[in-house]
Formats: sequence, structure tokens, C-alpha cells
Amino acid sequence: MNNTINEQAKTNANDVQSIVKFQRDYFASNATKDIQFRKDQLLKLKNMLNANEDAIIDALHKDLRKHEFEAYATEIGIVIGDIDKALSKLTKWAKPRKVKTPPFHYVASSYIKPDPYGNVLIIAPWNYPVQLMLLPLVGAIAAGNTAILKPSELSVHTSALLSKLLNETYDAQYIKVIEGAVEETQLLLAEKFDFIFFTGSTRVGHLVYQAAAKNLTPVALELGGKSPCIVDTDIHLDFTAKRIVWGKFINVGQTCIAPDYILVDKKIKDALVSKIQFYIHKFFGENPQESESMGRIINDVHFDRLLSYLKDGDVIEGGTSDRSDKYIAPTLLDNVNMDAPIMEDEIFGPILPIIEYGNLREAIDLINSKEKPLALYIFSKNNKKISRILDETSAGGVTVNDTLMHIANGALPFGGVGASGIGAYHGQHSFDLFSHLKSVLHRSFLVEEPIRYAPYKLNLNWLKKIMDWAL
Ligand code: NAD
Repeated sequence: MNNTINEQAKTNANDVQSIVKFQRDYFASNATKDIQFRKDQLLKLKNMLNANEDAIIDALHKDLRKHEFEAYATEIGIVIGDIDKALSKLTKWAKPRKVKTPPFHYVASSYIKPDPYGNVLIIAPWNYPVQLMLLPLVGAIAAGNTAILKPSELSVHTSALLSKLLNETYDAQYIKVIEGAVEETQLLLAEKFDFIFFTGSTRVGHLVYQAAAKNLTPVALELGGKSPCIVDTDIHLDFTAKRIVWGKFINVGQTCIAPDYILVDKKIKDALVSKIQFYIHKFFGENPQESESMGRIINDVHFDRLLSYLKDGDVIEGGTSDRSDKYIAPTLLDNVNMDAPIMEDEIFGPILPIIEYGNLREAIDLINSKEKPLALYIFSKNNKKISRILDETSAGGVTVNDTLMHIANGALPFGGVGASGIGAYHGQHSFDLFSHLKSVLHRSFLVEEPIRYAPYKLNLNWLKKIMDWAL
């Protein structure tokens, strides 16, 4: 039996090595660098998504019970939008970017030339299994790389479908999906890539970073964390509650930038809680389990993990669940134990702790006592308070007076900071992330400055004057 497993592992390792080698040779042929080639490949991706929209929506429903509205808005549509942007801007993005040249270099010109890294590896999670595998792929293609993609083994249906579709759309020497779990990812990470793009947990992010370090491979790590949501007294109460309920319970809270916990001024806490309860019922009905708009927890492990948090505070809304249906009701927790696991771990599910603060200092100190979050939300009409929070806290990205929405502006780089990640993407930021921005100084043979050559004759005062003027 053991022999069989070893034989299987060896075969897998050989497969991985030969695909990596295949892609390395293909990149070396320079075929992927041609701008028209890249555009053609992006168009193929768009056509594939359009042609298989129903099948993708169906797979997302099977994995996460996503409503087709969510499936299109947060998965398929967002990728098509990014492809369209890349198609219209790629020629401009890929051009050398001229920069100033100090007079010292006369006669010369300087520019930044975006170069593809080469062979990239993209590792995706299960919560937005289409968006989080294909948005990085758009960047990788636009920048002229080859790519190996590793979807999550937990979003079984979507991963199998995307694997089939992408492997039919592209030659393996250019783009190849390799399905699998920990063992397959480790085999991939043992190979040398030119860039690794990982989306997932901070725990696995550490492992990916360590593996990349062995080859000094640059990485983007798109990780998670506890994203706080501060609610001041000076707000539009109705819109605030609505936008929190939407951002927290979309995909049943299994969103990396979902508000993880609410920090609310104690003067407005009761009013906010009852409005949030009102909108939970308005959006999902009296029994959210029957709502078509309510998704499901990905698997039993996450279901059990989430239920264990319920003892860390008092349930004031929801709290019901059905394991056979992987359903947990939208839940609000009051009187949360600040030392309990719910305030240590990223919740990543439909449980929302409500924590009150007496003054802004307390709220800011609480946020700063934790790792830097992926997102931060501020609800306030008071610009002074907004500026203070922005100045005194750190987060990957911020939306003021809404939740999640900064992700939906391709002009804004999307990524974390500190424990929530390294590197940012979307739109041109994806193109730049998957490119090495190569510096080129192009001199002529017209002028020569003898003073720089040995034996050195210029005294230091003159050298300082020249450098002051010329650099
Ligand atoms: P995960 O870290 O468990 O898995 C991510 C990927 O890593 C999967 O493809 C998985 O197969 C692989 N993997 C798992 N264990 C591994 C190991 N020991 N060695 C090598 N590879 C391994 O994350 P997940 O549960 O799929 O996703 C949830 C996490 O992802 C949350 O923390 C969430 O915040 C984060 N996330 C971040 C973003 C973002 O954009 N920053 C987006 C979505 C999710």
C-alpha cells in the first residue's frame, strides 16, 4: 500500500516538473510577450466565461449555494470587467514609461520597461473560487507570463469545472490548472517559479512565503484578518445598517473583507442593533434558511468552527443552525469576551460581534492591538473623525460609509498590509504586479566625462558641487 502511495507521489512530482519545464521553455520562446497574443488570450478567457456562464453559476450554487445574482456580480462579472479594462488599456500599460534623466548622464534617455516575470504560480482559495483564481490570471496574461493555477480542493464543483474549461481553452505549455490539496500544492511550491500569487489564510501564507524564499521568488500574498467596522453617532442610521448587513452576510460572511466585528459608539448601539436586526429580516425573511439569497458554509469543519464561537458572547439575533444543510443563521453577538477565540481568529462566517466604545481612542487602540487588517470600515459624517481614524490606524484598504466597495474600484490597488498580505492588484495594478518594472538608462557615445575614471584627480569640493548640480 505504502509503495503505491510513494509511486503515486513520484508520478505527481514528475508531472508537475514536466509541466513547469514545458512552460519555462515556452516562455523562453518569447511567444507570450507579443501584445496581440496577450489580447487574444484575454479574449479567449472572456469568451470562455460568457459561453459557460450557466455552468459556472450552477457550480457556485453547488459549492456555496450562491444566488445567481451574487455569482455574476462578485465572480463572473468582476472578472469580465477586468478583462475588458485590460483589453482596452494593455497597449498603453505595456509601453516603456519615460522618466527624467539627470544632466549628469548627458546624452541619455531613461525609461521603465514592464517585463513579464516569466512562469507564475497562482494558488486560489474556495470562497470566491472564480474571481480569486481568474482575476490574478488576467494580470498574469496581460503582463505576458505563463501560469500554473491551483484552485482550492474545498470548492469541489467550481474547481473541477474551471480546471476542465481552462485546460480546454489553453495549451498546457501556456496555462495549466493542476487540481489538488496540500500535497499537490507542496509539490508545486517545491519548484522554482518567477512569481507566486497566493490567496488564502495567513497560516498557509507563511508556508508559501517560506517556500518562495528558498528561490528568492517574489510573491503576492493576499491574506485575511479581522476587518473592523467603526460606527460613529453622526451617521445615516438606515443606510449604515443596510450596508453592514449586506457586506457581512453576502456569501454568508465567507468574504475576506467582510466586516469582522462592529465597534459602535455606545450612544447609538441600541439603535444600530435594532436597525441591523430589521434589515436581516427584511433581506432574508423570518427564516433565512428558506431564503434563496442566503448561501451556505463551505464544509463541516468550518461549520463546527463557527458554531464554537457562539459561546464567546450573548446571542441577540440568530444563533440557529442546521448541520445537515451547512446553514448558520445571520447572528449578532453582544457582551463578547474580548479574550475569547472569536476576537482572536478571523470569523469568516455569519456571526457579527457588536462591541461598544466610549470614545474613539478606545476603538483605535483596540484595532491597533491586533494585526493589521485587510479592510477597515468607518461610518461617520464627521470628516475630522474619519481623518483621525485613517491617520491612526493601518489597513489594506478602507471604505468610508459603506462595506466591501473599495474592492469594486479597479483604480484602487487591492491588497493587505502586514499580516493581511503583501502586494496589491486589480486593473493596472495587476499588470504592474505581474511585471518586473525594469529600469533602462540608454546612453549615447556622443559625450565622455573623463573625471570618473581612475586615477582620480578631482578634489572633493568640486566633486560635491558637480554632484549637487547634476544628480
Ligand atoms: P487556505 O489558506 O486554507 O487555502 C488556500 C490555498 O492553499 C488552497 O488552494 C489550499 O489548497 C492551499 N493550501 C492549504 N493548506 C496548505 C498547505 N499546508 N500547504 C500548501 N498549500 C496549502 O485558505 P482558504 O480556507 O481556502 O481561504 C480562506 C482564507 O483566505 C481566509 O483567511 C480569507 O481571509 C483568505 N482570503 C483572502 C483574500 C484576499 O483577497 N486577501 C480573498 C479570499 C480569501
